[in-house]
Amino acid sequence: MAEGGVNLAQGFPDFDPPQELKQAAIEAIETGCNQYSITFGEPDLRGAIAAKALRYNQIDYDPGSEITVTCGATEAMIATLKAIVNPGDEIIIFEPYYENYGPDAILSGARLRYVTLRPPDWRYDPSELAEVFNFNTKAIIINTPNNPTGKVFSITELEDIAKLCIQWDCLAITDEIYEHIIYDNERHISIAALEGMADRTVTINSLSKTYSVTGWRVGWALAHKNITHRIRKVHDFLTVGAPTPFQKAGVCALNLEETYYEKLQSRYTQARDRICDALLDAGFNLRSPKGAYYIMADADRLMDQLGADGADAFSLKLIHLAGIATVPGTAFYHMEEMGNNQVRFCFAKSAATLDEICLRLDKVKQMVKA
Ligand code: PLP
Repeated sequence: MAEGGVNLAQGFPDFDPPQELKQAAIEAIETGCNQYSITFGEPDLRGAIAAKALRYNQIDYDPGSEITVTCGATEAMIATLKAIVNPGDEIIIFEPYYENYGPDAILSGARLRYVTLRPPDWRYDPSELAEVFNFNTKAIIINTPNNPTGKVFSITELEDIAKLCIQWDCLAITDEIYEHIIYDNERHISIAALEGMADRTVTINSLSKTYSVTGWRVGWALAHKNITHRIRKVHDFLTVGAPTPFQKAGVCALNLEETYYEKLQSRYTQARDRICDALLDAGFNLRSPKGAYYIMADADRLMDQLGADGADAFSLKLIHLAGIATVPGTAFYHMEEMGNNQVRFCFAKSAATLDEICLRLDKVKQMVKA
């Protein structure tokens, strides 16, 4: 950062993946895995994805005809939307939403319909959700655990969404890239595992967050073979394929022992607790996230005290005063004013960076007091 600060804005870890994954990628390059793969993914990676999805998500997809390996979850989402959207179709999303879903909808030609998740616990109003479904609805996008709110959708919520998808004969597209970053004994549930949903769900995931390799660009989409057939066509023309050596290393990642996921959770739980405490102490208002590695905090009081008019001005002030970069809440809503008192912090950070952040937040607290 130009101001010599810490970047809590973008969602990637500032620490390395496990050594064995780095080694697997090096070995793949050294043993000749340097050319195009089969466009929809290396067979051994698709096999490993299918096995893990069955083990962890209780969903059963055929690696031969129902899995597409993509360049990250990012490509899986746009390829899916481009594969399913026809003129006049509507896509439902919950807001605040991960920033890419807006442009994804524009690029695919869909009209977006919004359902608001409200703080402090980021629930939605079930009647508001029911009202946005109609004959033009093609799909609803779910992201659980959720960026930016940290919400983990409950079984009751997912069952309600599933009922509406069945009633209106539409798809669920579920982005589950934070499935292993989850706290307080919350349980991640894949909507595709619910009755009647396997054939009308596209489940998106990637190596990026679970294995701390956001630069490797390997993701995937699981869906019934008729939908997969269309996704694979779009994917082929968008990118040809995901990087071959990182697909090979992905097999090693997906076969890691259960203890890997336990350690990941414990690392992120400690980081979450430290940052939540430091933010509360500095004067932010927030609820601890239940999953993912973001905190969407209410900065109303601090904005007043520091004389910042809205989230954009406040985020700039945090950079100048304390060298802390965040994302203003306005970035996550279709009407910016809805996020004008919120800022998002990413806490996928090493212990040393967390120490630095706590010092800087304490500086903010002292400034407000002075
Ligand atoms: N989906 C969500 C909800 C995200 O937060 C992100 C990255 O921050 C992505 C997708 C991007 O994933 P990938 O790196 O696999 O493209």
